[in-house]
Amino acid sequence: MVRRWVVNDLDLVVDLVNTVYALADPPDRLTTVDHFRVILRGAGQSDLAEELADGDLDRLRELREQLRPAFGCDTGSEATDLVNELLREHAVVPQLSQDTTGVIRMDASGMSHGLAALAGRLVAALAEHLVQHGIRRLGVCAAAPCECVFVDRTRPGTRKYCCDTCNDRAAAAAHYRRRKANRRD
Ligand SMILES: [Zn+2]
Repeated sequence: MVRRWVVNDLDLVVDLVNTVYALADPPDRLTTVDHFRVILRGAGQSDLAEELADGDLDRLRELREQLRPAFGCDTGSEATDLVNELLREHAVVPQLSQDTTGVIRMDASGMSHGLAALAGRLVAALAEHLVQHGIRRLGVCAAAPCECVFVDRTRPGTRKYCCDTCNDRAAAAAHYRRRKANRRD
């Protein structure tokens, strides 16, 4: 059960970073805090959504840009340095709690609220992922100009694209290149 919030929070990292989507018009969709509130509510995090203030927009966008490079690291030490810096800046003291069934959980947001709680949880999720899987399963979409990020949960770990649309776009582009090359032969 403890692992579930890690997965959810890592998905929120992906959702936050991907509020910039090169193929959208305009590409940056995080122009209001409400945009991310909708994402949080969709992820079952209504409490956190309500705690964010409209004035958090700049800090939310800053957090997004701090998290983005973790998906493009070439080495484990690069990712370690990056996430360590984020842990120093954002980590809060985790707190344990026991629910009515006696299950003990760890809450990475500790006793903080709002953006601080969100930042603490997202950075903790990234750190936890690196501990468990290293950098292999974090990626950036290979279908230019898209630069969306993803967590590769496929069995072979060979995911290259952020979504089906980019997958199809890349396949169509490869097909076009092959046809053009054949015509030249
Ligand atoms: Zn993509």
